Amino acid sequence: NTFCRELPKIELHAHLNGSLSRSTMLQLQRYLADFGVSDKSNAFLDEFQIGSGDRRNLSDCFQVFNIAHSLTSTQDTLAMATALTLKEFEDDGCCYIELRSTPRDTPHMTSRQYIETLIETLNTANTNLSIISCLIISINRGRLPSEGDGIADLAIEYHKKYPNLVVGIELSGNPTVGKFQDFVPALQRAREAGLKVTLHCGEISNPEEVSDMLMFKADRIGHGICIHPNYGGNESTWNLLCNYQIPVEVCLTSNINTKSILQYSSHHFKELYGANIPIILCTDDKGVFATSLSQEYSICAETFGLDASKLARLSLKACDYIFMTDKRKILREKILNFINKNEL
Ligand code: 5GP
Repeated sequence: NTFCRELPKIELHAHLNGSLSRSTMLQLQRYLADFGVSDKSNAFLDEFQIGSGDRRNLSDCFQVFNIAHSLTSTQDTLAMATALTLKEFEDDGCCYIELRSTPRDTPHMTSRQYIETLIETLNTANTNLSIISCLIISINRGRLPSEGDGIADLAIEYHKKYPNLVVGIELSGNPTVGKFQDFVPALQRAREAGLKVTLHCGEISNPEEVSDMLMFKADRIGHGICIHPNYGGNESTWNLLCNYQIPVEVCLTSNINTKSILQYSSHHFKELYGANIPIILCTDDKGVFATSLSQEYSICAETFGLDASKLARLSLKACDYIFMTDKRKILREKILNFINKNEL
């Protein structure tokens, strides 16, 4: 849909290693093969994508990230993956992105080098591309809390060095593993040091954890599925969200393809939108789910009957929830210009 591509959009929930396109993965694979680091065939690329009819369960879905991780294990390929992905978002009409990724030690680099590579690549992209990019550092809840502490330390250190680039910290990973409470000290420390916080919240039904997360008052939450009573939450979790008005990063196709939601028309977007909860449409893992931000806007418009004006206002409103707060004004102006030019 041309309108959805041309509309300037804001991406606030994109995991780097889930966002790699097939073409990016092929380039990385060729690069690694030339250096004798990888001898994989192309068959593994087919396993990376999870379509709506996929038989894999939620936990199996998390295995696919190992495929991307095998390709982004060196500083060179990590930088290539990041640069190519940012360019793809720009080509899709995205004017601002908060890319998120989990720093990890590989046989070829340390977590520190992982972050430094991302920072360097984002810095270069901010000079060469028109899309504005910054970084949210991810903590994987499936790993030990001590690892989360180490990542928070690095996030704080690099936020101090690059306050306009390392803007946030987030908790993700398999929601059936690990406990939110174990990661609160790390997240709290990061927040006190000035980082914004977003949490994957309510991907599976767990009202107790969802309550704890909402009471933590994160700056944003991801998915927010099992909060409303009709979706595995309860009155109390839903009331907390309504009272706190925490912005929700909504990832339509991701929720369908992981079978967290059965069909687009029964997505909790409807309840969130109806209750006036701030919503930001996002892709989550555009490579894994074979989508794009413009496609998510288009699906949203079609499913919930939003006209061009309402869709553009969704993008405009997203500016209020970005973590690079000093960019809010210029992004709002850019989107307002588009709205006025198109008489929306
Ligand atoms: P990375 O952080 O390595 O750049 O991106 C992949 C990682 O993001 C995965 O290993 C996983 O921890 C996290 N991730 C990606 N998609 C999802 C999702 O839909 N839900 C959750 N909870 N975590 C995700």
